[in-house]
Amino acid sequence: MLKNKVAIITGGTRGIGLETVRLFKENHANVILFGSKKETVAKAAEQLKSEGFDTDGYYPDLNDYDEVYKITEQIYQSYGQIDILVNNAGISANKRIEDTTSSDFQKIIDINVVGIFNMTKAVVPFMKRNGGGVILNTSSMVSIYGQPSGAGYPTSKFAVNGLTKSLARELAPHHIRVNAVAPGVINTDMVAALPKEIIEPLIKTIPLGRVGEPRDIANAFLFLASNMASYITGEILSVDGAARS
Ligand code: NAD
Repeated sequence: MLKNKVAIITGGTRGIGLETVRLFKENHANVILFGSKKETVAKAAEQLKSEGFDTDGYYPDLNDYDEVYKITEQIYQSYGQIDILVNNAGISANKRIEDTTSSDFQKIIDINVVGIFNMTKAVVPFMKRNGGGVILNTSSMVSIYGQPSGAGYPTSKFAVNGLTKSLARELAPHHIRVNAVAPGVINTDMVAALPKEIIEPLIKTIPLGRVGEPRDIANAFLFLASNMASYITGEILSVDGAARS
């Protein structure tokens, strides 16, 4: 479904991002994965290589626009195109407001929102130059109703939805589609790190009766990245077993 496409996937070293890298490779895309550290990028690339998939990997500071732009330009020069960007890197929060410092709050906005802004700003000129592209963001089911602690996390995901809908309108004339996937509770390290008191009641509310797997989200990204979604833009696609609260 992605033959001859070049895709950059942030947060590609584990969880949802790593599974999306794998699925895009299975569908014959060239994939460049971004992570936060040299070691985790090398480990993911090695794992993928053992499965028969070659990938390039980088670890730019997503909050440093100049660094992000430099690597993006380098990728464009080597591959001649950047067709797909998946803005998936993210961190979560679960502390109550009294225990959250301004710098905790700032950090989550920096990674989950400013990081997406910087990556998107860096790829757009190259997508425009080649006549179009696809930008996909990882939102969350908490972008609908919020969550009862760690307010910075849903705040950041409401912003991701705002960026998605606004940039979809701004970039549509350039044939760049912008969509988001809003996962529910997905079986990754991020969820493993949550306390039982938060996670167990959440699972009970999932009408499909199970936690999602990274592949469930990767499948949604594949569809939205492909030409099958050529008339879809500005959409926040819930992939959550109907657990939307
Ligand atoms: P994860 O913790 O397994 O992976 C997070 C990824 O983000 C890693 O590859 C990590 O390297 C990258 N990352 C984290 N901080 C970074 C930084 N400062 N700079 C660059 N990269 C950084 O988590 P996951 O569950 O796979 O989450 C991926 C995305 O899905 C996130 O945006 C998350 O908010 C979203 N999400 C996850 C769930 C869930 O239940 N797991 C639900 C809704 C949304």
